[in-house]
Amino acid sequence: MDKNNPSIAVLGAGVVGMTVARILQDRLRNVNVTVLADKFQEDTVSAVAAGIFRPGTSFKGATKEITKQWINDSWYYWQHILNTSEAPQAGVMALSTYIFSKNNYHVTRNHLIEDLVPSYRPVDANELKLCGEGWKHGSYFSTVKIGCERYLPWAERIFMEKGGKIVQKKIKNFTSLPQKFDLVFNCTGMGAKYLCNDYDLVPMRGQVIKARAPWLKTAFYGDYDTYIIPGHDGIATLGGVRQYDSYNMEVCKHDAAAIFERCCELLPSLKKAEIVSHKVGLRPHRVPVRVEPELIDGVKVVHCYGHGGYGVMCSPGTGLQAVKIGVDLMKSNLKNKL
Ligand SMILES: Cc1cc2nc3c(=O)[nH]c(=O)nc-3n(C[C@H](O)[C@H](O)[C@H](O)COP(=O)(O)OP(=O)(O)OC[C@H]3O[C@@H](n4cnc5c(N)ncnc54)[C@H](O)[C@@H]3O)c2cc1C
Repeated sequence: MDKNNPSIAVLGAGVVGMTVARILQDRLRNVNVTVLADKFQEDTVSAVAAGIFRPGTSFKGATKEITKQWINDSWYYWQHILNTSEAPQAGVMALSTYIFSKNNYHVTRNHLIEDLVPSYRPVDANELKLCGEGWKHGSYFSTVKIGCERYLPWAERIFMEKGGKIVQKKIKNFTSLPQKFDLVFNCTGMGAKYLCNDYDLVPMRGQVIKARAPWLKTAFYGDYDTYIIPGHDGIATLGGVRQYDSYNMEVCKHDAAAIFERCCELLPSLKKAEIVSHKVGLRPHRVPVRVEPELIDGVKVVHCYGHGGYGVMCSPGTGLQAVKIGVDLMKSNLKNKL
């Protein structure tokens, strides 16, 4: 690290922080980037996620155009990795997905990705019977999945190989960072609630089952937030629940039983799957996702948090916008801008 280079801190080592750190190294030459976080890899919310590229239709940036830009940029970021020999190590895989509903046609549609992914079409009569009787509506689409159990270690390794520094530290506020930084990216997920006193950031509790089902190659969604998403090493993610404003980090046995029952009803072959673990995570839910600059006690901060249930898929798009904001800030005088 050259001491004369601008120094940049990225707070947070979840998927958002590590993706911002990667983009910074790719886009800027001659900067020193340090990632500061108290939790890494398996201990982050990112590692709980299945990581499928399928935004909820209410996923929102500041405008419709920004939301679409984030999603498009993210798609091509993941496609780029998918088409390299690094894809398996980075945890990026192509995935065919069915979404079925017994009562609502609209949940099977997705205006945010229908014109982006290679295929998004209604199912035919035979496909409608793939998960038993009674399904009235269904769509098939091709997408990608990013397994953070692989992506985060991979991103950390490459970041350090390129000269990045990683420090384990809990940050109390923006003025108590271990050194002076020219620019700080705030990618702290739910941690931003306390760092920024942000009352708009609310936990959306999720619980999933990780189950060994190596025969599973296709993802399935059903009603009541039921999903089965295959992953690397034959481990599938079975979900799920969305509990607004719940901070409970304990595994709930009632949630687990309901998830398993709903998933087995959707796909009976799961009854013979070995349950590997139960996981809980608090999705950092905020409308809109916050990507904007702020001058805090003289520290130039770019916020990038509040991705809710879509932070894995959308971290590149929001990260690219955050880095662009950061570059503009470094070029100009922040005080004149804000
Ligand atoms: C059950 C479940 C399923 C999901 N499925 C999907 C899916 O299929 N697709 C998808 O795209 N998304 C999914 N998500 C959402 C996704 O997991 C989140 O949006 C994403 O992980 C948020 O990433 P993050 O980096 O902002 O947060 P995190 O992964 O929580 O990382 C935050 C980082 O900030 C650090 N930090 C926080 N506060 C401080 C502090 N004060 N000092 C130092 N460090 C701090 C933490 O230690 C951590 O390193 C799912 C989430 C859940 C719970």
